[in-house]
Amino acid sequence: MGLNDRPALVAAASRGLGFACALALAREGARVALCARTGQAAEEAARRIGSETGSSVAAIEADVSTEEGAMGFVRDGAERVDGCHILVANAGGPKPGRAQDMSDDDWRAAIELNFLSTVRMVREALPHMRRAGYGRVVAITSSSVKEPIPNLALSNAARAATTGFLKTLAREVGEDGITVNAVLPGRILTDRICQMARARAGSEELTEDEALAQQAVDVPLGRLGRPEEVGDVVAFLASARAAYLTGCMLSVDGGLLRSLF
Ligand code: NAD
Repeated sequence: MGLNDRPALVAAASRGLGFACALALAREGARVALCARTGQAAEEAARRIGSETGSSVAAIEADVSTEEGAMGFVRDGAERVDGCHILVANAGGPKPGRAQDMSDDDWRAAIELNFLSTVRMVREALPHMRRAGYGRVVAITSSSVKEPIPNLALSNAARAATTGFLKTLAREVGEDGITVNAVLPGRILTDRICQMARARAGSEELTEDEALAQQAVDVPLGRLGRPEEVGDVVAFLASARAAYLTGCMLSVDGGLLRSLF
């Protein structure tokens, strides 16, 4: 895929989708730096990827919801892996809840976590990509940017802002050899989905397994996704093979969304 030896930074990667992206890129030979909010979680993830792939992965402690965390991750990560050709802009998800119930502080926190983190990491990564004449920005957003999800108001709104940013950016940096795309996960079996299933199980008198099974009922492929199925798509978008794809919001959802585009 033309990923061998390319420096790649993957944010929020101690588990879940970020971890799967870091693993997929390392499997293709990329030199990966990842971050998590604690140094211990980042080190542990880097060790696991290293033992599966034989590559050395740089671990960085950074909270990407802060300015210093987001920019510092790219600055330090690029130093550790000698540049940044690939940025996977990922973060945790904001708390659930209805649009009408959220406070200003809730909105601000979601914007910092899911919008400004991407803006800040990209800003710091672009000079490296321009210098290299190769750049791949891949953001992890959500199927909610095409079809907002009930009771996830913060996520729906913050990711819509991120999508506007990415689509605008894609037109600005194309001539520098930089592509900008997003992957829109549907329902992928990670800790976040399990946590949400546990919360639903508690309020609806179901077991966690029943709540998870219900999530898969309207997925045409008949099951929840696996994190590595997102990681593989991200690795493709980051690769030389995806050179003519930009501004693309790619659903990885087992066919869940009904919209035409
Ligand atoms: P997860 O909770 O399983 O993992 C999130 C990872 O991000 C963890 O490693 C956590 O330590 C790290 N993290 C959280 N906040 C961070 C911060 N501020 N700074 C640095 N690291 C941080 O979540 P996931 O399922 O892997 O989801 C990743 C993203 O994709 C989230 O934004 C989520 O909302 C979104 N998403 C997930 C799904 C899904 O089905 N899993 C669907 C749509 C969108």
